[in-house]
Amino acid sequence: MNLFTPLDAALNTKKEYILALKEMGLYSVRDLLLYFPRGYEDLSQFKKIWEAKDGEIITTKGYLHGIRVVPTKKRGMKLVKAMFYDDSGSECEVVWFNQPHLVRMLPMDKEVIVAGKVQYSYGKYVLQSPTVETIKEVQIHAGATVPIYPQHEVITSKWLREKINPLLFLTKEFENILPQEIITEEGLMSKSEAIREVHFPSDSKSLKKAQDTLGYEELFLLQLNAVKTKEEWKDSRPSNVDSIKMPMDPEFVKAFFSTLPFTPTGAQKVTIYEILKDMERPFPMMRLLEGDVGSGKTVVAMTALLQAVKYGYQAAIMAPTEVLARQHLISISKFVEEIEKIDLLGKTLNIQLLIGSLKTKEKEAVKGGIKSGQVNIVIGTHALIQEDVEFDNLGLLVIDEQHRFGVKQREIIVKQGSPHVLHMTATPIPRTLALVAYGDQDLSVINEMPKGRLPIITKIVPPENRESVYKYITGKIDEGQQVYVICPLIDESDVLEVKSVTAEHESLKQRFPQFKVGLLHGKMKSDEKDSIMKQFKAGDINILVSTSVIEVGVDVPNATIMLIEGAERFGLSQLHQFRGRVGRGKVQSYCFLYTNSSSDLTYQRLKAMVDYTDGFKLAEIDLNLRGPGEVYGVRQSGLPDLKLANLLDGILLDRVRKAAEKIVEKSKDLSDYPLLKKAWESLRKRMSEL
Ligand code: ADP
Ligand code: MG
Repeated sequence: MNLFTPLDAALNTKKEYILALKEMGLYSVRDLLLYFPRGYEDLSQFKKIWEAKDGEIITTKGYLHGIRVVPTKKRGMKLVKAMFYDDSGSECEVVWFNQPHLVRMLPMDKEVIVAGKVQYSYGKYVLQSPTVETIKEVQIHAGATVPIYPQHEVITSKWLREKINPLLFLTKEFENILPQEIITEEGLMSKSEAIREVHFPSDSKSLKKAQDTLGYEELFLLQLNAVKTKEEWKDSRPSNVDSIKMPMDPEFVKAFFSTLPFTPTGAQKVTIYEILKDMERPFPMMRLLEGDVGSGKTVVAMTALLQAVKYGYQAAIMAPTEVLARQHLISISKFVEEIEKIDLLGKTLNIQLLIGSLKTKEKEAVKGGIKSGQVNIVIGTHALIQEDVEFDNLGLLVIDEQHRFGVKQREIIVKQGSPHVLHMTATPIPRTLALVAYGDQDLSVINEMPKGRLPIITKIVPPENRESVYKYITGKIDEGQQVYVICPLIDESDVLEVKSVTAEHESLKQRFPQFKVGLLHGKMKSDEKDSIMKQFKAGDINILVSTSVIEVGVDVPNATIMLIEGAERFGLSQLHQFRGRVGRGKVQSYCFLYTNSSSDLTYQRLKAMVDYTDGFKLAEIDLNLRGPGEVYGVRQSGLPDLKLANLLDGILLDRVRKAAEKIVEKSKDLSDYPLLKKAWESLRKRMSEL
């Protein structure tokens, strides 16, 4: 037998169990040994029965005697009872429910370890449904810190302990993926010892060390992948195309700033500097710009676009939807008039939109201009890099709001000649998590809002207050303000989501017959969506009912009120994004969070929305309340399922990152570390399939 022996050959068990294991993704001994506990129950401290408090779970040593099935009055209910006594002469009754087979299985009048809940009633102790284990060299169910595995109908923790324990001798076949120098430096265990200890810990100290070891390995592989990906990106620009060095010129930047109707914030200046410094280098940039909704990312991006155009390159912005692409066109065109007044570039800008819904002829024309180099700036959706678009000389690609920058997307961009890439997001990702999820990118953060904005007032609305909010908004609409209504997220299907938003639209039309109520959802054709957005912008629609498609980037300063239905279904960051749609003008804005849920967690989360307006703070709270998996999701973050890594320990992460960099420095192709190389390649494969 070895690690790769299939479980049906390695385990003496029924087919039903093998099937269940397969469903859990466990096929080989190796898989089973890498199936880690989700927690532990400390049953290692022995007590005497009489020392127990009522309701306490204790571990004790003694003898069982006189086991029997006792009939009860309740039909189908069978009690198993026995007596338990220990050396000190104390005794108590033991009860199990509906487990008649125990009568055959449990050893009588032999020393055993028993762990279970003690109930004290009518002057008597009763042990309820305890775990019983005979005394052995190693205890796996009681008398030790015992592993609790993820819950499963068929495959119980008890079953797993019994199957995994005898296979532990095979852990010696696990080789260390981590380089020995790191294991020594970090004071980690060998992988084989760590796997043994994580299933059956000898004490709390070695358990901690085992978890640290396995968690370190997970993080290390991810950081190694990030470092390698970053290196590959640097080397990816083909040598037959121009170098993309674009030296920074402070006078040019100042001149552009002088055309703006405001002074950039300190944070905007810092991030612009970081970006332009990257663009000075001969290899392509890969940078993530994070900035809360309304923090002013557009100006930062615009500076970079102009920098590229100044040096004779083309620049492009890619948005996730056509609505947003059009909006970028509008915001960018606003800059242009002033820029041309001072003749900043010494040439006229040719800015074009390239989106899927253009007529074929228009599309061909734009593509022609892109190919010939006549077009300087292109704004588009995915169509930009997916369709057969050929750039004359693409120097910068700005990608707005794409949660994941996948392996595939990267490949396409390499084909476009590996321009500088600036990725922008309004999702405030705490730095530690960004290091893990976007570790192959450099990070710039706009951590400051333009001055003088009125903070949005947020309120939680229980169902009984719904009508008073409706009355309140009636007054505001009469004053000429506009309202967004966001419908709850429905995971199961788009069809249901459309149904629910359509129903809400109907009901609001009836509630507000005097107003124009509009509808927007993801299944609408893009020209329908556009027309609705246009009407809303023009003020022809008073109330806009929408699914979460409204989330990013939409800018209607006259909309001052946002109602969010089923608010508990959204993540805090997402709620914060919605809320960012209002508060864009000079009038006080409001956000009302409707919820029917009365759970504590819901209240805590929604209360955070009331208390904080800072997106980073909210992201942190959400992360602490729900954990990274829930908040960012495996898919969204592009992270493989991490079992033991602590994603929130920044100091550790920095150390891991440095260690990974050092290894790549020593052996760029990892040939000095063949096992590590293999593990990294398999991680990369898994990540590209996510
Ligand atoms: P986002 O980061 O959400 O994309 P935008 O770039 O759309 O934010 O900026 C939001 C609004 O703030 C825009 O109307 C923009 O003109 C304005 N703005 C940007 N920077 C500043 C600043 N430094 N001072 C005042 N207003 C600013
Ligand atoms: Mg924006």
